[in-house]
Amino acid sequence: MTQDIFLLIEHIQGQVSDISYIMAAAARELAQNEGDSVIGILFGSGAEGLKDSLAVDKVIYCDHPTLSEFTSDAYKRTLISLLEDYSPRAILFGNTTLGADVSSSLAAHLKFPIINSCLKISDSGGIISQICGGKIMVDSQLADKTTLITVNPGGYKPEEGQSSSSPETITFSPPDLENLKVQLTQYIEPEAGDVDISQEKILIAIGRGIQTEDNIELADELAELLGGAVCASRPVIDQGWLSTSRLVGRSGKKVKPDLYLCLGISGATEHIEAITDSKTIIAVNSDPDAPIFDIAQYGIEVDLFDFIDPLLEQIENAKND
Ligand SMILES: Cc1cc2nc3c(=O)[nH]c(=O)nc-3n(C[C@H](O)[C@H](O)[C@H](O)COP(=O)(O)OP(=O)(O)OC[C@H]3O[C@@H](n4cnc5c(N)ncnc54)[C@H](O)[C@@H]3O)c2cc1C
Repeated sequence: MTQDIFLLIEHIQGQVSDISYIMAAAARELAQNEGDSVIGILFGSGAEGLKDSLAVDKVIYCDHPTLSEFTSDAYKRTLISLLEDYSPRAILFGNTTLGADVSSSLAAHLKFPIINSCLKISDSGGIISQICGGKIMVDSQLADKTTLITVNPGGYKPEEGQSSSSPETITFSPPDLENLKVQLTQYIEPEAGDVDISQEKILIAIGRGIQTEDNIELADELAELLGGAVCASRPVIDQGWLSTSRLVGRSGKKVKPDLYLCLGISGATEHIEAITDSKTIIAVNSDPDAPIFDIAQYGIEVDLFDFIDPLLEQIENAKND
């Protein structure tokens, strides 16, 4: 086993995903403790240029038309083949649909240990994971064989994993990618719905803390006064209180507003991975330990119903002055 730290670069439709930069930042921290190299694994078709903005020492690039967009089977087969040639100390994956899919099947297939939901690397090189919705923090150590790690957004900023110098490329020949069980036939963009929340500059995001459907009118009022739109976490959508076009998160839309005001949202990975491009996140939550406070620039520990009415009043007064 070498001391290198690998990470699987995620990209979609020609764009490197933020989680790849976050992983590069985490990998640098992990490598820094041991003086190891950070090496990105990039799969794609004509996609070598995607490596240029990543803060890694080298990139192992595998080019094949079947790898142009992610499919579980093709990625897994290529990684298994790659790991016949390389034996890194750790491989980082995003705790995303892609990363969770590939890392878990790889761990099962190769019998590699896996550490999930890494948020930070501690000063002593420990993997700090945030589990049970942020209620439990775990400090794990790498095993004495290649360890797989899934990385949550929130612990590092994407800018920390970016670089202006292009890393060296090592090309890797793809294995046989015929007869795959899963193949991509079409990429379908989600429908915009009545409001395209991915384009809104101001979003009032409501979570389970809003408690009842009737209370949504408070968020509507706030959105109207501020010139924004209301969006929600999954429990609100699952209740049928808002249409699925308003869902933010892994199963919904990724958003990038100037202001993301979250009311009663805990900050589960599946939600926050879609809001990290927001310019300012303000979180209102009555639980001081809610993980949303880890990524918000401003946090207000308060019952949201004690917060909205005075805020509405103050905005109205300011507008009337
Ligand atoms: C495969 C998969 C995909 C998923 N996709 C998504 C997705 O796309 N989007 C998504 O959002 N989730 C998704 N989830 C669900 C996700 O894991 C969380 O369960 C969900 O985000 C939690 O929503 P929440 O924060 O609104 O609710 P909770 O986690 O229940 O949090 C409610 C928060 O409200 C606070 N609160 C309660 N009352 C008040 C009050 N009066 N004032 C202030 N604060 C209050 C609480 O302290 C708590 O922090 C997915 C899960 C899986 C497994």
